Amino acid sequence: MPDQLSEELVTVRDSALSFLEDVIKPLEASVESDEQRAEIAAKVRHASQAAGFYYKTQPAEYGGKPASTLELTMLRELWAAVNSQLTGFIFGPAPGILHAAEGVLKTDYLEPVMRGEKRGAFAFTESDSAKRPTWARIDGDELVINGQKSYVTGGSSADFVSALVNVENADGSKAGTAMVVIDRDNPGVEISRQYTSMEGGGHTSMEFKDLRVSSSQVIGKIGEGMPRALGNIGNVRLMVSAQATGMCMWAIDFVEQHLAGPHRSGSPLGDREGVRMRYADMRIETYVARSTLYRTARLADTGDNVVNETIATKVFCTETAGRVIDMAVQLVGGQALVRGHPLEALYRQVRSLRLVEGASDLLRINLAKGKLELKKGRL
Ligand SMILES: Cc1cc2nc3c(=O)[nH]c(=O)nc-3n(C[C@H](O)[C@H](O)[C@H](O)COP(=O)(O)OP(=O)(O)OC[C@H]3O[C@@H](n4cnc5c(N)ncnc54)[C@H](O)[C@@H]3O)c2cc1C
Repeated sequence: MPDQLSEELVTVRDSALSFLEDVIKPLEASVESDEQRAEIAAKVRHASQAAGFYYKTQPAEYGGKPASTLELTMLRELWAAVNSQLTGFIFGPAPGILHAAEGVLKTDYLEPVMRGEKRGAFAFTESDSAKRPTWARIDGDELVINGQKSYVTGGSSADFVSALVNVENADGSKAGTAMVVIDRDNPGVEISRQYTSMEGGGHTSMEFKDLRVSSSQVIGKIGEGMPRALGNIGNVRLMVSAQATGMCMWAIDFVEQHLAGPHRSGSPLGDREGVRMRYADMRIETYVARSTLYRTARLADTGDNVVNETIATKVFCTETAGRVIDMAVQLVGGQALVRGHPLEALYRQVRSLRLVEGASDLLRINLAKGKLELKKGRL
């Protein structure tokens, strides 16, 4: 663990480690088929509620006990470091983009989400085949939305999507961007494609055709769409970074055991200096990534603007995880690529992290712009 965790956080960490040993690992070992997963997920949720982890991503007004960014980062990294899909069920639903919702958005969406009765998806990415980015025309008290969104994770089973749209006034002049909550069963929503990415996520491309929603479905105000979307993405970027470093920790642990085990050459692979150098690189990179992650989480807790630091962390931690897990595969050899091997699954999972929540090079461009044009960011 990086140094300087408070006594309180050390206690939380220790109880999280016990939770992983006593609940997650035995349940993971008991999974025999995909059909069992829903039942086992319910067991994880129940145990997490009893242990108090469930409430750490939830606001106090919904019965939650929100944790600091540092605590959540530490826990997310620990969850990833056991390489079990079941850890995805430990935290309860979080408000995400709806965090400051008022009126109908609060009663009909945010509150049911917090009770676990509704689920939303995030529709940000535009389709490459669209003639123009998704747009909305103001028509009295309504917005009329047209466009295409792609890669909406969980979009086909979600109750609603929060979509970024460019709003124009009735005369065609620009009114700004808005995040709009759209019911999935609105007759103007058409699912054009459903697909699965290599790490197992299910996604949807959807079209909006003269879709009408009340202007009360706008989160905040028209003009606030992009900053709201990016604010939400910022939190998720730190989450992805913690996931990436946790994956590195699991991979290093796995490689260590492999290097100590028997090898057909007659002596363990870990005896060879060349192998040790590769292993050392895995540790060096992971050490730096974790130091970056924890520093940024601490900065975020001060309330400072950490947009650029979060970008730097996300790029570094996810690219590090790509290299570390690739090296783990290399050192374990061909067996790591056999379907069903844990490194095979991890190798597929880690690839998406350099694209989700902002492709690495796009983030590099934003980081440079933040400093050179907006004088934001620190070293
Ligand atoms: C597993 C997964 C889940 C996802 N879930 C969601 C979701 O729930 N909701 C959602 O809205 N989206 C989602 N996405 C989409 C994701 O946000 C996009 O894939 C990502 O932002 C990159 O956009 P793109 O795929 O359109 O690639 P593009 O924007 O076309 O970029 C492709 C590549 O081109 C290069 N490039 C592009 N523009 C520039 C530039 N200006 N300068 C230099 N190089 C450039 C970069 O190398 C970049 O990686 C998901 C993606 C994945 C893989």
